[in-house]
Amino acid sequence: MKIYNTLSHQKEEFKTIEPGKVSMYACGITASGDAHVGHAYQSVVFDMISKYLKFRGYDVKYVRNYTDVDDKIIAKAAELNKDPMEYAEYIMAKTDKELAELGSAKPTIQSRATESIPDMLQFIQTLIDKGFAYATPEGNVYFKVSKFPGYGKLSRINWNENRDGVRKEVEPGKLDDKDFALWKAAKPGEISWDTPWGKGRPGWHIECSTMAMKFLGKTIDIHGGGRDLAFPHHENEIAQSEALTGQEFSHYWMHNGLLKVNGQKMSKSLNNGILLADLLKEYKSDVIRFALLRTLYRSDINITDDLFPESEKHLYRFYQIFKKIHGKSFNGQEDVTQKYIDQIEQDFIQTMDDDFNTSELFAKLFGWMDFLSQELVKKNSPYILTKIMEKLKTLCSVFGLLQRDPEEFLAFVRNKYLEKSGLTEKDILLKIAERAEYKKNKQFDLADNIRNQLSEKHITLQDSPNGTVWDIEL
Ligand SMILES: [Zn+2]
Repeated sequence: MKIYNTLSHQKEEFKTIEPGKVSMYACGITASGDAHVGHAYQSVVFDMISKYLKFRGYDVKYVRNYTDVDDKIIAKAAELNKDPMEYAEYIMAKTDKELAELGSAKPTIQSRATESIPDMLQFIQTLIDKGFAYATPEGNVYFKVSKFPGYGKLSRINWNENRDGVRKEVEPGKLDDKDFALWKAAKPGEISWDTPWGKGRPGWHIECSTMAMKFLGKTIDIHGGGRDLAFPHHENEIAQSEALTGQEFSHYWMHNGLLKVNGQKMSKSLNNGILLADLLKEYKSDVIRFALLRTLYRSDINITDDLFPESEKHLYRFYQIFKKIHGKSFNGQEDVTQKYIDQIEQDFIQTMDDDFNTSELFAKLFGWMDFLSQELVKKNSPYILTKIMEKLKTLCSVFGLLQRDPEEFLAFVRNKYLEKSGLTEKDILLKIAERAEYKKNKQFDLADNIRNQLSEKHITLQDSPNGTVWDIEL
């Protein structure tokens, strides 16, 4: 199995520290506002990675943090006239619920920054004792970047080049512009903890290193997050962790790509952010996951207006195929079927073992679905289609796709489109009855008119010996 390691900028053979076990840490969410599609994406990617590793037989311990104390949370809570801890609590509960609806399994351990404050203080004190960090009279503690020779090995940062996007704050007592905060002195009235350096709260970077090591050990197999976190967040995590232990912090660094909305960066000023809660109102989780995983996790995704409707169209077709298979019995041949299933599984593993290539895998999924669709209409198919369908369902559980009752999914989409077109099922059934009447009276023009009217509203009719059935045309 190969994984692209940001540290080496290449695909590497995946070797775990302990045979059969994977320790993985992925940076979680700062509880400063409602979860948006970017959060959804990161969660779906690392959920897929964790589920695939489990599928391959690894015992996976996956840790994710919640940042529940930070400048943004304090500012937002003040704006809403709420207690920052209560506000963070509310956001975390809401986000947990939404991510569950999105089909992302809870990590093995999900922990909040404020649950590990004593561990962070110990971490920072050791760095001070070892000469890697210094406290200022104001009560801030900084990491001395110049003391750590490996600084920059992940992001390959060139300090002489411009550092766009890195906010420069006036930080009292900081000796070098490159140094970063491990601990921040509290402003009057702010939430704080007592420390030898005065009242304060943790910097963001220290919480991830502390929690990764606390739950997974000094060296972990995989550390992940969005590509925008590689610098400075992950670079700082490496520096402080390796300064502390003298050991490599993480063997593999995995970064998911970034999202754009209609070619533009998601930002507050453009007001183009897409909230996860809004997406979940409009689409079943399958649709969102299919749309997000159809691109290789390392590439960027441009969310166009078509992205989710297109995915819904594909999933609608897939569930239609499954529904048809459910409703029929197939007396195919066991050995022919098994051969096909073995081939699917082999292709699946080969594709996913190559750095979780969901993009190529989904192209194959289209092929397997086309195959089922073609076999369905054959009178004497040699395959037992239910067995192939069950295998595809098992494999797709890695992505959180196709796990629903097909009718539940189809009805949800159908009702949504009916609502949009201003029709009800009753209206359509009346039209069908009317059309049958015209046909009986050989008034074919009038019958065709009805078909055309419905077709304009994207309703298709299909005549069969058992009567006429309707469907939506996506
Ligand atoms: Zn982090």
